[in-house]
Amino acid sequence: METNQKKDLSGLTQEQIVKAYLQSSGVFCPFCGSYRIEVYDTYTTSDEGIACEKVRCYDCERSWTDNYTLTGVDLEDEDEGDEDADS
Ligand SMILES: [Zn+2]
Repeated sequence: METNQKKDLSGLTQEQIVKAYLQSSGVFCPFCGSYRIEVYDTYTTSDEGIACEKVRCYDCERSWTDNYTLTGVDLEDEDEGDEDADS
């Protein structure tokens, strides 16, 4: 495992970094390029269909927020332990 690898962000503008970050689905730190990042909090905003993840970097110790917008829907019924409400 090469967990200490960093993405080379040198020479990139913040806009390019954000673009690369989004294209990678947010696997590296947008500040230092480290892959040693961790989601430490998630929450959703009221009715905008936006989910947010608070992410932090172990290497530079900065944190940021990923925003996820609703991009699809899964209509499978997900009963979570409820009695079969198939009446
Ligand atoms: Zn970092």
